[in-house]
Amino acid sequence: MTGVTILGSTGSIGLSTLDVIQHQGPRFNVVALTANTQVERLFQQCVQLEPEYAVMVDINAAQKLEDKIKKAGLSTEVKQGVEGLIEVSVLPQVEQVMAAIVGAAGLLPTLAAAEAGKRVLLANKEALVMSGQLFMDAVAKHNAVLLPIDSEHNAIFQCMPEDYYQGLNKCGVDRILLTASGGPFRDMPLEKLKDVTPDQACAHPNWDMGRKISVDSATMMNKGLELIEACWLFNTTADDINVVLHPQSVIHSMVSYVDGSVLAQMGMPDMRTPIAHAMSWPERMSSGVNALDVFEVATLDFQRPDYQRFPCLGLAEQAIRQGGTMPTILNAANEVAVQAFLDEKIAFPDIARVVDNVMEKTGSHTADTLDTILADDRSAREQAMNAIAEC
Ligand code: NAD
Ligand code: MG
Repeated sequence: MTGVTILGSTGSIGLSTLDVIQHQGPRFNVVALTANTQVERLFQQCVQLEPEYAVMVDINAAQKLEDKIKKAGLSTEVKQGVEGLIEVSVLPQVEQVMAAIVGAAGLLPTLAAAEAGKRVLLANKEALVMSGQLFMDAVAKHNAVLLPIDSEHNAIFQCMPEDYYQGLNKCGVDRILLTASGGPFRDMPLEKLKDVTPDQACAHPNWDMGRKISVDSATMMNKGLELIEACWLFNTTADDINVVLHPQSVIHSMVSYVDGSVLAQMGMPDMRTPIAHAMSWPERMSSGVNALDVFEVATLDFQRPDYQRFPCLGLAEQAIRQGGTMPTILNAANEVAVQAFLDEKIAFPDIARVVDNVMEKTGSHTADTLDTILADDRSAREQAMNAIAEC
């Protein structure tokens, strides 16, 4: 049996991962589950699976979970805090770590899993956006296996030649076509964007996801973060990646070769497919997802992205071109701004304004140590709070 830790087991990706594991029966052993504050949901998962460990980052929540677990007579040991997350990411009985925490909070345990040489199933794109080179160096140095869960990157990985990491131009790849649905506001008149509500922003036409990534999809910051993620995962630059609007979300991304071939990976918009792919790689296993009915899909549309409608996409491109800790700064400002939008403190178009303002006012540095990255993450968050106060 393959031992698995699921970081963020109560979230959208966490639940899809558990679904795939249950669908597979005894092939996987869930060693540890983690969540931030959702005691009841994590408790129910413990009742069902009785993992060795359950971690709650929030200390009060951890106490509550421990009381419930004792009362229920379960053998699960409760740990707490970021230390708890790190502990369960490096256990010797764990071979695979699903990194499905949302945002910068996932960086330390995900990096710890890489440093422990695990198979890292990366959904938490913000961790890689923040730490780029440092993360990729840790993967290489400790012989970890980094497999993308993000549907686009999983698709690109499936369409790449085996030796892609030596450089795309050395293995016949011309460019990456990163697809994007355009989210719920793709066709909304621009002047109406200032009035959209968090619930409207979170109602994604094709995917059912957590609230932060849903807002990121509506601003297309998600695609910006994914562009940065793709640069690191596939050892390339923004120049070799084109963002393509594809409203149906049937093609999950494409790789274009020098001979004129374009390879695409297609499937239902269901995260259980990339999750099953990465958990069983290099083999294939059933995920519980039905095969795509191409007759049902019938048409596939493609458009160029509109940078005026989606300024966050341009800001993310600017951040990766500037390099250093600028992607960390972009990510931190975006996390704070998205939370302020969800809390109804700022309007939807203010998200991009806040990120732009923070990128302008926060100095970036060479991103060669974790301390520098975390310090710039903190400065950007402070600057974002100031910018929000001025909105
Ligand atoms: P979600 O909000 O549904 O779940 C987030 C999980 O992280 C929860 O289990 C929560 O308890 C935990 N968490 C939140 N804050 C935390 C903190 N401070 N410390 C520790 N744990 C914390 O989010 P999601 O949609 O599952 O997304 C998770 C990650 O996967 C994100 O990085 C997202 O960009 C990425 N992703 C998601 C999808 C999707 O379809 N949902 C697709 C591609 C990539
Ligand atoms: Mg994606």
